[in-house]
Amino acid sequence: MTTSHIAGFPRVGAKRELKFAQERYWRGEINEQDLLEIAQKLRAINWQHQANANTDYVSVADFTFYDHILDLQVATGAIPSRFGFDSQNLSLNEYFQLARGNKNQFALEMTKWFDTNYHYLVPELTKQTKFKANPTHYVQQIREAKALGLKCKPTIVGPLTFLWLGKEKGDRFNRFELLAELLPVYIDILNALTAEGAEWIQIDEPALVVDLPDEWLDAYNAVYTILSETVNAKLLIATYFGSVAEHAKLLKSLPVAGIHIDLVRAPEQLVAFENYDKVLSVGVIDGRNIWRSNLHEVLDILEPLKARLGENLWIAPSCSLLHTPYDLEVETQLKANKPELYDWLAFTLQKIQELRIIKTALEQGRLAVQDELDASQVAANTRENSREIHRPEVTERLANLPINADQRQSPFAERIIKQNAWLNLPKLPTTNIGSFPQTVEIRQARAKFKKGELSLIDYESAMKKEIEFVIRRQEELELDVLVHGEAERNDMVEYFGELLDGFAFTKFGWVQSYGSRCVKPPIIYGDVVRPQPMTVRWSKYAQSLTNRVMKGMLTGPVTILQWSFVRNDIPRSTICKQIAVALSDEVLDLEAAGIKVIQIDEPAIREGLPLKRADWDSYLQWASESFRLSAMGCQDDTQIHTHMCYSEFNDILPAIASLDADVITIETSRSDMELLTAFGNFKYPNDIGPGVYDIHSPRVPEANEIEHLLRKALKVIPAERLWVNPDCGLKTRAWSETIAALRVMVEVTKKLRAELS
Ligand code: GLN
Ligand code: ZN
Repeated sequence: MTTSHIAGFPRVGAKRELKFAQERYWRGEINEQDLLEIAQKLRAINWQHQANANTDYVSVADFTFYDHILDLQVATGAIPSRFGFDSQNLSLNEYFQLARGNKNQFALEMTKWFDTNYHYLVPELTKQTKFKANPTHYVQQIREAKALGLKCKPTIVGPLTFLWLGKEKGDRFNRFELLAELLPVYIDILNALTAEGAEWIQIDEPALVVDLPDEWLDAYNAVYTILSETVNAKLLIATYFGSVAEHAKLLKSLPVAGIHIDLVRAPEQLVAFENYDKVLSVGVIDGRNIWRSNLHEVLDILEPLKARLGENLWIAPSCSLLHTPYDLEVETQLKANKPELYDWLAFTLQKIQELRIIKTALEQGRLAVQDELDASQVAANTRENSREIHRPEVTERLANLPINADQRQSPFAERIIKQNAWLNLPKLPTTNIGSFPQTVEIRQARAKFKKGELSLIDYESAMKKEIEFVIRRQEELELDVLVHGEAERNDMVEYFGELLDGFAFTKFGWVQSYGSRCVKPPIIYGDVVRPQPMTVRWSKYAQSLTNRVMKGMLTGPVTILQWSFVRNDIPRSTICKQIAVALSDEVLDLEAAGIKVIQIDEPAIREGLPLKRADWDSYLQWASESFRLSAMGCQDDTQIHTHMCYSEFNDILPAIASLDADVITIETSRSDMELLTAFGNFKYPNDIGPGVYDIHSPRVPEANEIEHLLRKALKVIPAERLWVNPDCGLKTRAWSETIAALRVMVEVTKKLRAELS
């Protein structure tokens, strides 16, 4: 027998049922009982799918109403005291307040779960944090699964990863010091799960794939010795998102019953574990991406391993399936339009079937599932040979880029003189980041157009009216470099994906981003080509309406890559460069059409950073090269802008400078321009527009707030290189507050300008 299990399952449901139920609950349209029942039904369905796929353990305790790290904060009693809630008796209502904030308290901070696009709620840890076990949420799930007659395996995040993900608040201290007090609470929780009959408990320790300080690494032994000695269930330590080969000795020496490793992200680490004498769970189905596996190839690796490990070999997806959409079969449109591509994909329900097939083959031989194995081989073959994917002209173009293709003709100091000569801008030029309010009318027009209720001509004329409106408002405000407002764009990545070859879209391919929020990433499946200009028409039209300078607006290659499901048959760096080269065609077309200020947005550049520092340089190198390639061949007097927001940029400033954008607009106001000080210290060489107000709130900034920020900026950035702009695009704002805020921004700018001249 070969045990198969699931490291975690998507929670939102095949049709995002949980999201809609939560939102109805928040709006008061259904009551708590209704929500609980809907959730229970979803769990039952999820488990049934797992059982149907013949998994030996269905995954429990992974279901959450918002976030599994918030659940753990409740389960360990580590919720922030500022809310005044009792973690032992927390109502669902209070639970949601922790996640979403209330009248008096802001919500818990959110941050990315390792290098995924899932966001967890950051534990606020203080010196005074008192832990206390409350395993109710987990126990309930075990009872439900048992009542359905299912064998289950609870999964929770382990104590070291939990603390690692937290953030210290209040008095200075090291959150590692909390470990001793946290441990007994973990014991209580694990014992409660064991008392419910859990034979195995999966404890996730993905912190092992990042650069953990020695002190933390050294603690693993003691922690897992204590847990193994005091808890009766067998413990499976799960790692994912990278290699833990460097910790193989440590991991293998822990007195736990098993280890799970991610062989999709880090297949090379198998050698370090193949002589393990306890349960080795290998993640062989990609939990992070949507590609179908070549099952024969997987078996080529697993069969010899099985011969060595026998019953100790367990099989699983690489990580929780939370990061993949639910079911491919509902994508009927994709199946009809791109049948080959459809055949290359596997979402959660298909992935657990892949697991079943592998299990059967390992137990009964490949012949028992010959047809299914062969089908996966056929799909792999057609994919490998598809002309839609592999376009020789793209490979050739990348291979034959001229030397220094990514370098501008002249250095910034010379370019900026040529740019200023025609731009003729005042000191402290004002601009916007791109989008203006996406009003209900705009979204309705687009929805009607997509349903065929509005003709292309009528849709486009509605967008043109919107563009004109946006331009007139900016003229009235006397902004210097205008934008067209991006009315015609649904989303900054999807818009370009739809116009580029090599991209495909699903209808229901949602994955959870945080809480009830889901995203539907495009699929990059083939070589990227721009069949025709994408934005030129719009920008040209916008420029024709005004004498002021119109800025063209593109999404950068790294951001497009980062926010998509990406093909796994060529390196990410190659895909990124392909996108860059396609974008460079657009830049040159814009330039030829007289649009000579062009912004290439890269808000996601920081998100792509590898988990281990040792890998940062090589990423940053190809990411910045890709950015530069996207402006390849443009004239010195064409001004390239970029924009970044909502990330820690302090530690990648050299890479940001190496993009060599003429102007960077960057979100800063939230941290009172802390970032700017870093830019100043670093002596950022080119022009810079620090955001002077937060666009996330409808609140109109006071003149003195903006003035304070700008004066601070002037201390570290020479006036000749300083731009004035909001933090980010204004898409989510209403018009009234948008006008009011921009008016304040322009007034303050004028006042400071007068002082400077
Ligand atoms: N140009 C985009 C906008 O203004 C940038 C959005 C972003 O930074 N995420 O909407
Ligand atoms: Zn932004």
